[in-house]
Amino acid sequence: MTGTVPDVVLDDEDFETRRRLVVIGNGMAGARAVEEILQRGGAEQFTVTMFGDEPYGNYNRIMLSHVLSGEETDADIFLNSIAWYEENDITLHAGVRATRVDRFSKIVYAQSTVDGTTYESPYDVLIIATGSRSFMPSIEGLRMDDGSLKPGVFAFRTIDDTRGMVEYAEHDDHRRAVVIGGGLLGLEAARGLQAYGLQVDVVHAGSHLMNAQIGPAGGDILRKSVEELGIEVHLKARTTAIMGDEKVQGVYLLDHPLLECDMVVVAAGIRPNIDLAVTSGFTVERAIVVDDQMRTVDDPDVYAVGECVQHRGEVYGLVQPLWEQAAVLADHLTGTDPTAAYHGSRTATKLKVAGVDVAAMGVQGPERDTDEVIVFSEPKRGVYKSLIIRDEKLIGATMLGDTSKVAFLIQAFDQGLPLPEERLEMLFNLGTPAEEVGIAELADDAQVCNCNGVSKGALVACVESGVKSVAGVMEKTRAGKGCGSCKNMVCQVVEWAAGGAVQEDPSANWYVPGIPMDKPELMKAILDQQLRSVSSVFAALAPEGAEDAKSKMGLASLLKMMWADDYIDEKDAKFINDRVHANIQKDGTFSVVPQMKGGVTTPDQLRRIADVADKYDVKLVKVTGGQRIDLLGIRKEDLPKVWADLDMPSGYAYGKSFRTVKTCVGQEFCRFGTGDSTQLGIDLESRYQGLESPAKMKLAVSGCPRNCAESLVKDVGIVAIEGGRWEIYIGGAAGAHIRKGDLLATVDDPETANLLTGRFMQYYRENAKWLERTYAFVPRVGLDFLREVIVEDSLGIAADLDARMQQAVDAYKDPWKEGAAPATPGQFRTSLPLEVLPKVGVRA
Ligand SMILES: Cc1cc2nc3c(=O)[nH]c(=O)nc-3n(C[C@H](O)[C@H](O)[C@H](O)COP(=O)(O)OP(=O)(O)OC[C@H]3O[C@@H](n4cnc5c(N)ncnc54)[C@H](O)[C@@H]3O)c2cc1C
Ligand code: SF4
Repeated sequence: MTGTVPDVVLDDEDFETRRRLVVIGNGMAGARAVEEILQRGGAEQFTVTMFGDEPYGNYNRIMLSHVLSGEETDADIFLNSIAWYEENDITLHAGVRATRVDRFSKIVYAQSTVDGTTYESPYDVLIIATGSRSFMPSIEGLRMDDGSLKPGVFAFRTIDDTRGMVEYAEHDDHRRAVVIGGGLLGLEAARGLQAYGLQVDVVHAGSHLMNAQIGPAGGDILRKSVEELGIEVHLKARTTAIMGDEKVQGVYLLDHPLLECDMVVVAAGIRPNIDLAVTSGFTVERAIVVDDQMRTVDDPDVYAVGECVQHRGEVYGLVQPLWEQAAVLADHLTGTDPTAAYHGSRTATKLKVAGVDVAAMGVQGPERDTDEVIVFSEPKRGVYKSLIIRDEKLIGATMLGDTSKVAFLIQAFDQGLPLPEERLEMLFNLGTPAEEVGIAELADDAQVCNCNGVSKGALVACVESGVKSVAGVMEKTRAGKGCGSCKNMVCQVVEWAAGGAVQEDPSANWYVPGIPMDKPELMKAILDQQLRSVSSVFAALAPEGAEDAKSKMGLASLLKMMWADDYIDEKDAKFINDRVHANIQKDGTFSVVPQMKGGVTTPDQLRRIADVADKYDVKLVKVTGGQRIDLLGIRKEDLPKVWADLDMPSGYAYGKSFRTVKTCVGQEFCRFGTGDSTQLGIDLESRYQGLESPAKMKLAVSGCPRNCAESLVKDVGIVAIEGGRWEIYIGGAAGAHIRKGDLLATVDDPETANLLTGRFMQYYRENAKWLERTYAFVPRVGLDFLREVIVEDSLGIAADLDARMQQAVDAYKDPWKEGAAPATPGQFRTSLPLEVLPKVGVRA
């Protein structure tokens, strides 16, 4: 046959030679495996598609305990943001559950958990990393008729579980919680819930706490330590039923009295997510069976990692094994090390409960007659330590109440290191070198961060490569980014390796993360360049003009503070609460709190509030802790009408701003009163209403040192004392953080108290970091310094501070007036699904 073949020109894209890698599960193991693959140049070999049924990027699940206890925010625990996937050219289907794998046509079938959209994704190589889920035992009353958990019952596995718990625990009517399970997770949940003022009981079926990790003797001491924290422990207690028709009201236990409670957290173990693997025909025993290359035994192109895996009969429930598995898998898949093999992990456990130190590894007690056992027990101090040694190797250890030797023990356990003749040296710092020297003596391959598998050698190498700040080393190596309990040791290693030349993390002083400037530097640049909108600040000052979502709110607040009326308002730089001047609730409706200066109202205002409550079918009318009235359950589109009918200014119960001044009745009516606290409270609120600030500011004025308005725990608290004088306290708090305010000054009259309050607040507005409350700002800057600047005017800036404060006061506009002329057509149109509010009983 003759003929000509036409020239065909194809785009490079048509020659995609990379293999298609699909990953099911975007949790710690799945994302880590992808990171490891990319680190080994995998982007040149694979196109990557990931399915994760949680609608987020990848976060550090370990840190959920700290999110629950309020030590971390959920935004802080993300390891890979959605942007990370885009930057690395990974197609992430977040909020999409894989339902089936067709191994013959090599297609993953999936479905969106949000809108039901279906997906088909062909693969050449597949990784299953579906992790585990909380085990929910079949307890009567645990679920509603439709199979959902009864309101008030929670699992503890995901960010959504944790958010749900926090919201429920914060509810004023919820006072008591029961945690089912006295293992690691149960104890961390119990301690976390205490942060919300709940009375917590732990119900545990075993005869001692953490029985999977420690023996009975240690368990007894642990119980005492836990009970000393105010947590009640019920051992050998089986939950038979959850009481309550519509929501949790209590827990029935076998052979124990009924425990009344408002919420139940089930922390009774985990089960690997294997349904997909079973449906798709993979060999599953306790979990998906894999070989030493993490390959399923059924299909050479399908691998599995993490908690959904069974390797040589073992199924793990901690992160360290999955780091090791991911590294082997990546070596193998990219061909970096074709001989790489996973031989199993030796795991150590640490309890992340402040005030109770527990670390455990290996066996709990002797198993052979020849096993050597060393035990130290001091129950009064809550200290218990035990070591099990076989053939001169550490095969088990429990440390309770004092974990100072844990780094060495983990090293000895993990690597089978030679042990000192003097066994006590393994329990205490005896005549052995001091801790600082201990760092120098630590072997290079000693694991410092157990969670992320980072050795001393890796930290030292990072410092030697030029990274000299602790935060930089942590960022680069991930050390300290797991349970966080090794952070001190990471600091020590970095300090030691840098030989005293540790650099401060430069970003620690930036006002917002997206602009590399501290606040004074940033304010100067804004003034010099006359930047009046958030977008213009990014364009002029951010590296490559890049906008950073996390920085927008802080910048908007700063610009508003600096420019007052001249600030150019861009709606996307605001929280929903600031956009609609109301506080969003969990069902998508809003709470409306009108201003009541100093907590004082009138019959006319009360009548209007009552009329509005009737007219708009307000579900709950509530007196707040700040002495105002909160109308809950208002629909977004009704907000402007509600404000018009109320005809009262906004009470600013939302946003980062001056909130309210709480007052006592004071001199006019109270027989103890020495100052007119109510009037001063009204004056302060009239002057500073709506003032923009780095974080919320709550004030109080009390008419005498009996302090009925709780002035000592406010951002600014004023107390009338004998002789008509007034004390001004700053930096107090009584929320998640508790701090007694520091005495800034004692003044002779309310006018001076008002002036100094304004001057302090202006200094705080200009110098505090974004979201830094006064309780952190005052100790950071120092009380003596603040006194010198604010009271004695040592820097000669007092007049300027007063003038700038006056400017801000003069620029005040009631935001509720915006209701008559919305800033955008959709400002008050509802876009959130509204769910029916639970009926809240109105008390007589
Ligand atoms: C509160 C808490 C504290 C912990 N503390 C510690 C600790 O201190 N130390 C420690 O070592 N370990 C700790 N752990 C355990 C640790 O978090 C786990 O070992 C680790 O997360 C396991 O990683 P994984 O990727 O296997 O599973 P996961 O992190 O659970 O990830 C699996 C992901 O796959 C998703 N998925 C499941 N099925 C599908 C599907 N069909 N389609 C799409 N996506 C799917 C899941 O939703 C999940 O997002 C803790 C766990 C919790 C919950
Ligand atoms: S603080 Fe003093 S003045 Fe105010 S109500 Fe209490 S006792 Fe009376």
